[in-house]
Amino acid sequence: MKFTELGLVPEILRSIADQGYETPTPIQMQAIPVVLSGRDLMACAQTGTGKTAGFTLPILNRLAGNRVTGPRKIRVLILTPTRELAAQVEESVRTYGAHLPFKSLVMFGGVGMNPQISALRSGIDILVATPGRLLDHAQQRNVDLSGVEVLVLDEADRMLDMGFIHDIKRVIKLVPKKRQNLLFSATFSDEIRTLASTFLVDPEYVESERRNSPPDLVKQYVYKVDRERKRDLLVELIRDKGWYQVLVFTRTKWGANGLTEKLLKAGIEADVIHGNKSQNARTRALANFKSGKLHVLVATDIAARGIDINELPHVVNFELPNVAEDYVHRIGRTGRAGTEGAAVSLVCVDEHKLLHDIERLLKKQIEVVAYPGYEPDPGIRAEPILMRSAGTRGGQRSQAGRSGSGAARGSSPKAAGGPRTGTGKPGGASHHSGNRHR
Ligand code: AMP
Repeated sequence: MKFTELGLVPEILRSIADQGYETPTPIQMQAIPVVLSGRDLMACAQTGTGKTAGFTLPILNRLAGNRVTGPRKIRVLILTPTRELAAQVEESVRTYGAHLPFKSLVMFGGVGMNPQISALRSGIDILVATPGRLLDHAQQRNVDLSGVEVLVLDEADRMLDMGFIHDIKRVIKLVPKKRQNLLFSATFSDEIRTLASTFLVDPEYVESERRNSPPDLVKQYVYKVDRERKRDLLVELIRDKGWYQVLVFTRTKWGANGLTEKLLKAGIEADVIHGNKSQNARTRALANFKSGKLHVLVATDIAARGIDINELPHVVNFELPNVAEDYVHRIGRTGRAGTEGAAVSLVCVDEHKLLHDIERLLKKQIEVVAYPGYEPDPGIRAEPILMRSAGTRGGQRSQAGRSGSGAARGSSPKAAGGPRTGTGKPGGASHHSGNRHR
């Protein structure tokens, strides 16, 4: 199938051609006709599948085919869990709408409200926002959502993980009852199904690829190593193998900071993004990483969620995630767009159960590679993994439960004060608007 067969207006086909895209991705092939038909949609699609264009293109088409006269009103509202994703989605809106006259705005917290207020006053067709800042504006009556025709929840699973359910419900009350609803989620948990049953009306269901399957092009390896030697091994691997553009995941903000310091001391250009970093610092780190100035970007799961970096050669799980699905999200950042990528996990004795959970989800074993000189000491016992970073080394691990039973590891990270909850209310902390109009 070709883009030209989907019934999109010439202006949109032109921007698709500008991007050099020739064929729609599977999620686009399925989602675009549904969105064009005006039906509600529930789509299971992970980052890297082309899902953003999957909803952006037909939404723009809808606006183009039904232009309204008079002052601009917000006709499309797209909610995302994180600032980064909001910025990326709005960037896509501008890219695909480059030959159309619509105005878009990205709105998130952490930056002043005033530029967003002036942008809103100047008239916006498409608003991309994190829920917290949007509600701040709604409370102050800066934003009028009474003209919304399409409401999109992007990465809805992550929004629920981050505790946005009440914010989402409050936003839904502010938009007209009669509207088109699109729900995108990487996973379909029971919570998502519950949300879908209240949010969507007679939805069409589409799925981009098998659930929880990482991209085929990603080569996965495990290096077994002692927990205290992980940092040294990472430095060694980066140097020895000449890795560049390495995205490294840690479980906690505390761990991310410590690792970044270690890399810098070793002379490796590195920076860190997590929920406690200012928006400017995060944007700068990401830009430097994308441009190749930084060799390593250390990130927590939430900060890295949705980051769109194409052809990323290396993803390192410095620590395995507590939720097996997060492993798939993490490594989905590499091996995209036909390029091969490598996902490397440094696994210590504490993490054997997590590794087992991941392999069970993937339905395959991950190849274990030895790095000479870093073989694990069989005398070291497993310790429970605690997510709460007390800001001290001692706070990271419990002194109780050295049995290695893994009981604490099995506990739900959603209940733990880990990165998911540790950022507080990311959207609500409120952030900036790019306020970029065409
Ligand atoms: P997404 O899943 O929306 O984050 O998109 C992942 C990447 O795929 C982005 O860099 C898009 O620019 C790119 N992309 C989207 N649609 C296509 C397409 N039809 N052909 C090639 N690349 C695409």
